Amino acid sequence: MAEDNAFVWVKSEGRDSLATENLVPGNQVYNEKLILKKGVEYRTWDAFRSKLAAAIMNNLEDFPFKDKSKVLYLGASTGTTVSHISDIVGPQGKVFAVEHASRVARDLLDRVASYRSNITPIIQDARQPKDYFSMYGKVDIVYCDIAQPDQTDIAISNCKLYLKEEGYLFLVIKTRSIDVTKSPQRIIEEQIKKLEKNFDILQTIDLKPYDKDHAMVIATYSKN
Ligand code: SAM
Repeated sequence: MAEDNAFVWVKSEGRDSLATENLVPGNQVYNEKLILKKGVEYRTWDAFRSKLAAAIMNNLEDFPFKDKSKVLYLGASTGTTVSHISDIVGPQGKVFAVEHASRVARDLLDRVASYRSNITPIIQDARQPKDYFSMYGKVDIVYCDIAQPDQTDIAISNCKLYLKEEGYLFLVIKTRSIDVTKSPQRIIEEQIKKLEKNFDILQTIDLKPYDKDHAMVIATYSKN
């Protein structure tokens, strides 16, 4: 599934834990454990704190994040998942991390981006992708986790501007932020319908038990 040892399993407290190789040895982002294995430092990756880790735990089939990947990440928050993607894409990769809330963006800058030169923070509204002045070129992956009712439309408009042909979309659907009166299954089907015009849907993953009311849709982009 994953290429280039993008993530690994390490022994932590007697059990196997998901982990990524620490791009900044000695540096912790969210109190995760740092584990040394054969002289290499890894950071454990908590599936209860990161939906990408939850998707891996729940049998994610395609993992395109790898050394040198370019990623546009919408809804970076304080940078928990962004930091692991930063580990994976390495010094020659890039994570453009979009976050509009200044309170959390401060943590993203102070605790994550300031230590990791492959993260470009973009403190802007993901609804206005044309305004990302620090974006350049197309990306391999758009990751969207913004918990908004129009999250799918926001993801699509960002992909149209910045995702390369055949690139991947990872879309987190928070079913309760779309419509609490509809069944989660129906909401996911409606969001997938919106994507089908421009994307091939590869997999839909329920993120239980790590996250309630969330699903991850993985798709590839084809403009027609
Ligand atoms: N992806 C993060 C992680 O795994 O660590 C958690 C993301 S949290 C569920 C959603 C984030 O999206 C919040 O920090 C919120 O401020 C941000 N957000 C919501 N609407 C946004 C928008 N229109 N533009 C940019 N960020 C937005």
